[in-house]
Amino acid sequence: MNISENLEKIRRTVPEGVTLVAVSKTKPVEDLQAAYDAGQRVFGENHALEMRDKHQVLPADIQWHFIGHLQTNKIKYIAPFVSLIHSVDSQKLLHEINKEARKHNRVIDCLLQFHIATEETKFGLDYAEASEMLRSEDYKTMENINIVGVMGMATNTDDMSLVRSEFRNLKGIFEQLKAEFFADKQDFTQISMGMSHDYPIAIEEGSTLVRVGSAIFGARNYNI
Ligand SMILES: *Cc1c(COP(=O)(O)O)cnc(C)c1O
Repeated sequence: MNISENLEKIRRTVPEGVTLVAVSKTKPVEDLQAAYDAGQRVFGENHALEMRDKHQVLPADIQWHFIGHLQTNKIKYIAPFVSLIHSVDSQKLLHEINKEARKHNRVIDCLLQFHIATEETKFGLDYAEASEMLRSEDYKTMENINIVGVMGMATNTDDMSLVRSEFRNLKGIFEQLKAEFFADKQDFTQISMGMSHDYPIAIEEGSTLVRVGSAIFGARNYNI
């Protein structure tokens, strides 16, 4: 298994306009450095402390994307440097991200995570919750966050027609939000969907950010 070869192979399948996020969670910094040396600059992590630790030792021009469930008491570890948070799944979380971003005089780009899978376990908003949040007075006062799109995870299944319909649903949510809340906002453009086993379908359905881990870095071992 060779990280730079894997990256090269995947890049050939990712069209211009779609960003490849290299999901490096659980992987050692040597593996991230190998991907960096092969030209990769966007990395995705799902634990705040792990991301902070890797950020401290790896090159400064890496763009760090947070892709996992984020607890409000962990925002402070990533607020100084995170470039995009994919996983905003509550108003409380957005409120707290805004607070931490303000402390660092930053505006943090965020995606709203939607629940599109049939599985109960996946985090995410539904349209009514997002809509309520975007209409709230609280949201209108948040000057240190910038919502640039949506994110979703399809059901973990081999049924690719189900996966495709879930991606299509997310694209529909994006279009609806854009029309209803972000019509004047030029940078509301991002749809984060697709992982190692389903990213080609996600791209066909309009993804602009694919989050690919094991196809680049190999299978993860959670027991070490
Ligand atoms: C782990 C993870 C990925 C990458 O999964 P792979 O199947 O290894 O490509 C993508 N998105 C999220 C939210 C993840 O947690």
